[in-house]
Amino acid sequence: MTIKNIDKQYVLNTYNRFDLYLVEGKGSVVKDENKKEYIDLTTGIGVTAFGIADEKWVEAVTNQLTTLQHTSNLYYTSPCALLAKAICEKTDMSKVFFSNSGAEANECAIKVARKYAMDKGYDRVNILTLNNSFHGRTLATLSATGQDHYHELFNPLPTGFVYADANDIDSVIATAKENNVCAIMVECVQGEGGVIALNKDFVNAIYDYAKANDILFVVDEVQTGNGRTGQLYAYMNYGIKPDVFTTAKGLGGGLPIGACVVGEKAQNTLGFGDHGSTYGGNPVACAGALSVVERIDDKLLQDVRKKSEYVFSTLSECEGIEAVTGMGLMIGIKTKKPVSDVIKECMENGVLCLSAKDKLRLLPALNIDFEILKKAVDVIKSACEN
Ligand SMILES: *Cc1c(COP(=O)(O)O)cnc(C)c1O
Repeated sequence: MTIKNIDKQYVLNTYNRFDLYLVEGKGSVVKDENKKEYIDLTTGIGVTAFGIADEKWVEAVTNQLTTLQHTSNLYYTSPCALLAKAICEKTDMSKVFFSNSGAEANECAIKVARKYAMDKGYDRVNILTLNNSFHGRTLATLSATGQDHYHELFNPLPTGFVYADANDIDSVIATAKENNVCAIMVECVQGEGGVIALNKDFVNAIYDYAKANDILFVVDEVQTGNGRTGQLYAYMNYGIKPDVFTTAKGLGGGLPIGACVVGEKAQNTLGFGDHGSTYGGNPVACAGALSVVERIDDKLLQDVRKKSEYVFSTLSECEGIEAVTGMGLMIGIKTKKPVSDVIKECMENGVLCLSAKDKLRLLPALNIDFEILKKAVDVIKSACEN
């Protein structure tokens, strides 16, 4: 039996996989079972921030792996402490809770928001999120996700989530006033929703409203974080600072980790026993993440922005492309041809791309070689034009 058939028979059928079995890679190039090479513009959905088998990341992970792979959260370990310090110092936030995924990081943010309101004596339990958002697959984060088609099959979902329209501050304020809201949670660039950046005025207006009403402003940086948008975190493009932000995906560089990062206001909201995770703060995952966070400096971010400008300007002028959206190296492309056809043609020509709704989505490694990126963009261009 081939690996593909074993997988089809024994792995729960929740993923509509591409007909591609990947076996190895280096940097931004991956190889299939027949050694055919592909330029990887997917990075495991924004996870392998420095590409496959990056030397510095591998070194950080293997050093920790062969020293102390796991304790529990009953003891101190250095990678967890140093990663929390690095994130807080780079963001001017106060404290971090580590989990294993983006959805779990958002679960923590939801708990922080509810308890913050309770501690203050407010009668507020609802979290406001945006229509077309995506916040995860656990029951609560599915409920937080503002897209009905994710909800229908799994009722009853946890209650306490209300939805407003993106880029419509009147909708947000009206919904918040009607529903006793303890937090407003947004993605600065809606990823799964089609790579759509929120307007600057809108984000600033939410910030002002939340601040004036002691509502926590939570930014979901699971996909947008860790250099992806050309700043360390996407909210930095908007000139605001959230009360809480969550991140995962690129943070781990390829190992599972999530983080709920809390600012001064709510830093003492969760105390002993209020939250926990067996694997959260795992030394190996944290050592890898620390090596990722330490490398996202001004020079790298400038480089991300330069590559972004190249992709935006080159593809915007392409015949077969209607629009290029997103920010940094989180790029959505509205193609004239059906996006599935474009992805298929790119794959045949050695380039792996993602989709998001009706758009082609690119999430290349932050350090992708410029020449490799140019080659991939040429393949996308001709796949869109032919
Ligand atoms: C991927 C994603 C999540 C969920 O992360 P998991 O690690 O799959 O649980 C949550 N929010 C956003 C914005 C995401 O892109």
